[in-house]
Amino acid sequence: MAHMIEVAKSGRATCRTCRSAIPKGELRFGEEVVNGFAEGGETTFRWHHLPCAADKLSDGLRAALGEYQGDVPDRDDLDRRMAEADAKKPPPFPHADKAPTGRARCQGCGEAIAKGQLRVAFERDIERGMTVTKGAGYLHPACAAGWFEDNGTSHDELTEKLRTNTRALTDEELDALFSEV
Ligand SMILES: [Zn+2]
Ligand SMILES: [Zn+2]
Repeated sequence: MAHMIEVAKSGRATCRTCRSAIPKGELRFGEEVVNGFAEGGETTFRWHHLPCAADKLSDGLRAALGEYQGDVPDRDDLDRRMAEADAKKPPPFPHADKAPTGRARCQGCGEAIAKGQLRVAFERDIERGMTVTKGAGYLHPACAAGWFEDNGTSHDELTEKLRTNTRALTDEELDALFSEV
């Protein structure tokens, strides 16, 4: 989808994030979406104030800002809002964190992962009846390297990805985790 930024041609559009009007002449963010009412996959735009898009649609707004040639007022504020929004998103897989409960089982050894223990989270397919959805799977640090190697990711690639993606642990905790991986 090609999202875009443009000067509002009228004052009739309503921001889909905050539901208030977008004044004529103000920059607005167009979120390109498939029009569910049209056949054939036509697309339409949902409009948002730029600060609202920064809070809720940071990836799309960042891409659109990269394309937009004109001046963007309060760009610093938008950058700050997008950075804050990114920090609140769940980190990409694989990443490490501490088990918030003792309910998850390790996909490597099948044993429970104790509450508060360091663990490695990865994306896996979860079958529920006839449907398959994406969800998180978890591994003990000691089980992680073997499991990832079986799935084509080397030990070095795994630790590099964990270092990049992990947000919930301190450097010391991450080093403690790597001593077991
Ligand atoms: Zn808004
Ligand atoms: Zn295990």
